[in-house]
Amino acid sequence: MSGDRDADLIIVGGGCAGLSLASKLARLADRHRTIIIEPRKSYHHDRTWCFWGKRDHQHAHLIAHRWFAWRFTTGAYAATQVSADGTSYQCLPSKHFYDDAIGVIEQSDQVALELGVIVEGVADCSTYVDVHTSNGTLRSRWVVDTRPPSNRADNHALMNQLFVGAEVQTSQDCFDPSATGLMEDMSVDDLGFRSAKTMVRFLSDDCRFSDFVACRQCVAESSIST
Ligand SMILES: Cc1cc2nc3c(=O)[nH]c(=O)nc-3n(C[C@H](O)[C@H](O)[C@H](O)COP(=O)(O)OP(=O)(O)OC[C@H]3O[C@@H](n4cnc5c(N)ncnc54)[C@H](O)[C@@H]3O)c2cc1C
Repeated sequence: MSGDRDADLIIVGGGCAGLSLASKLARLADRHRTIIIEPRKSYHHDRTWCFWGKRDHQHAHLIAHRWFAWRFTTGAYAATQVSADGTSYQCLPSKHFYDDAIGVIEQSDQVALELGVIVEGVADCSTYVDVHTSNGTLRSRWVVDTRPPSNRADNHALMNQLFVGAEVQTSQDCFDPSATGLMEDMSVDDLGFRSAKTMVRFLSDDCRFSDFVACRQCVAESSIST
């Protein structure tokens, strides 16, 4: 690293993307000095990621549950698809991911996580980049900006995914742990295509694909009323 820079790489935002990149660099013992800047002062369990995967992958040890069958239903029709090749639908609670990534970063001499700091501007100065933060200016060779786009006018998506969800814990077993209700009670309403998802112990959510951006309150109220 050149002496007039604070870092080789600054990662703006310590969400899933920022922490994934930073922890990967820390695991590789990459020699470049990396700083991640995140406004949160601490991490808590704020979401659950679900995806299809094989048994072995880099986050396999963080998976809370795997399903080898998934259900689709409408009012009149139900179908269950069963995995034929060992692929499962997997659920990764964010707390597992955050604890793992931060643990790896804390072990690294080259990667630092700065919490409670807000990036206010990024200035490309040709051979370096100045990152203006609530804690002063940092100079870096490269910047990876993972902040979500703030301007809705830049949203060129054909469909938007809107969902409200809640974690549910019951005192008695009442979900089938072998199959997940992936898209249940599929229907179309004023907010677009709608389906519900229920997963044993972890999550219940109501999801829509819609060609317009609805406010969180509209989705929540519509889900509760139906
Ligand atoms: C195909 C697909 C499937 C998905 N499935 C799921 C799912 O199953 N479950 C789910 O919960 N989500 C899902 N998502 C939504 C989303 O991708 C994830 O929730 C994911 O957490 C987004 O991570 P990110 O790092 O891109 O963004 P974020 O988590 O939003 O990270 C951005 C970070 O930037 C930080 N930041 C913001 N402003 C500043 C600033 N001024 N200065 C510094 N830092 C700042 C924020 O604090 C935040 O930590 C899915 C998305 C897609 C496309």
